[in-house]
Amino acid sequence: MTHSFRMLIAGELVDGASTFDVVNPATEGVVAQCPKASKDQLETAIAAAKDAFPAWSALSYEDRAGYLVKLADALFARKDEFARLLTSEQGKPLDQAEYEIIGSTFVLRAFAEMRTPEKKLREEGGQTVIEHRTPLGVVASITPWNFPVILLMNKLGPCLVTGNCMVAKPAPTTPLTTLLFGELAAEILPAGVFNTIADQNELGPVMTSHPDIAKIAFTGSTATGSKVMASAAESIKRVTLELGGNDAAIVLDDVPAREAAQKVYQGAMTNAGQICVAIKRAYVHESIYDEFCEAIAELANAAVVDDGTRQGTTIGPVQNRMQYDKVRELLDDAKQRGTVLAGGELPDRPGYFIPPTIVKDLDDDAPLVCEEQFGPVLPVLKYTDIDDVVRRANDSVYGLAGTVWGRDLTRALDIARRIDSGTVWVNQHLAIDANLPFRGSKQSGLGAELGEAGLNEYTQAHIINAVEFDAQPAH
Ligand code: NAD
Repeated sequence: MTHSFRMLIAGELVDGASTFDVVNPATEGVVAQCPKASKDQLETAIAAAKDAFPAWSALSYEDRAGYLVKLADALFARKDEFARLLTSEQGKPLDQAEYEIIGSTFVLRAFAEMRTPEKKLREEGGQTVIEHRTPLGVVASITPWNFPVILLMNKLGPCLVTGNCMVAKPAPTTPLTTLLFGELAAEILPAGVFNTIADQNELGPVMTSHPDIAKIAFTGSTATGSKVMASAAESIKRVTLELGGNDAAIVLDDVPAREAAQKVYQGAMTNAGQICVAIKRAYVHESIYDEFCEAIAELANAAVVDDGTRQGTTIGPVQNRMQYDKVRELLDDAKQRGTVLAGGELPDRPGYFIPPTIVKDLDDDAPLVCEEQFGPVLPVLKYTDIDDVVRRANDSVYGLAGTVWGRDLTRALDIARRIDSGTVWVNQHLAIDANLPFRGSKQSGLGAELGEAGLNEYTQAHIINAVEFDAQPAH
């Protein structure tokens, strides 16, 4: 790749203090050199965002929304270039990369439509109580490597439309699409409103403890999220944490096993299983268990595991060496404890490829069942009793999402209500919508992203409580 990537700091596209390699997970070759920010460059970016805040927050919602639409238009106009770059740094098949880029433009457009209107909480007996919202200031966006573009847009949309400015830090293994987006933003946004910083994991803690950063919008692992929260506590920063999950799928006895297997397979294996809300454990009723296992194994065997740029590839590589090693360890352990129905053997070729793997006969305490694998290896577990499967599904420190699959919708909804997760989908998966809130329960997160609740996370609510000057005191 000949493109020379730069960071957007204070309205200027700049080189880093040094560079590092970004590796293509399908070939292990170098995609490009990435600029690496020094601490001083991060300080400059934060100061620029702080300086830009008064003028940006003074604009009307309509004006700021107009900028978001321009960003969406510009991203859409270069969607093919962004998708190709995304596939080369992240690994996902090109059609899934295009889907992420187009989805990102939808997110920006959705937030361009959203507002935080003043609310009258009370108006009676001469008393008026108003709640109004103001932006917070400088927001730090810290994102992971599985969806580098759309997860940034989930933060940038609400951040900018409500009048905040941003310093965005992508994950070290997938920084290039964020930097390319910075190049596009440099042409559109006033200087300092949006800044990009690339690092190799050193600068996150500087952001989370910085006195001039008002809010941390973080997506990543629970372990890092806990560090972010601890660091932000010092100055009582606002934090939203979108963290790990170990989402259960419950397949009821009234669905056709083969169709259910198809849906669960998609939910587990898209993006090589590297989706926070991927189906990570499937519980299938004993009456359809054998047929389900046979069908899902056939689907796994039929997958085309290859470089995401090759036409027809359905599963790309795992994104980076560290994650590849982690999934491999879980797989090796699962092979000892259970029965591999499909996949399980790693190809002898460059790249971090793991074929879609289905494992049965595992106990609930097997690491593949109780940890977040974040890769294309799915345990399929049998159940007989609804109360028991609900207990097993909820027996996790995580509570991100989950799915229930059943023909009897009333029964499926009743079960869905008993799952302790931020989201439960019934007969569908990954129905994430910019207009609906998304949040994790337990150790899967804090606060909401998306929807009105997500928008409000980028604002401070103020209450104004007024009575007539001559009114008698209420107490
Ligand atoms: P990670 O926690 O390792 O890294 C995420 C980001 O945090 C990166 O940008 C990294 O550089 C930065 N970082 C590292 N140390 C830091 C520190 N001490 N302070 C501040 N920032 C720091 O996560 P990952 O491995 O990139 O992503 C995979 C994880 O993300 C999985 O657990 C997955 O479930 C989770 N995830 C959650 C959601 C969600 O919406 N809940 C979405 C996608 C991914």
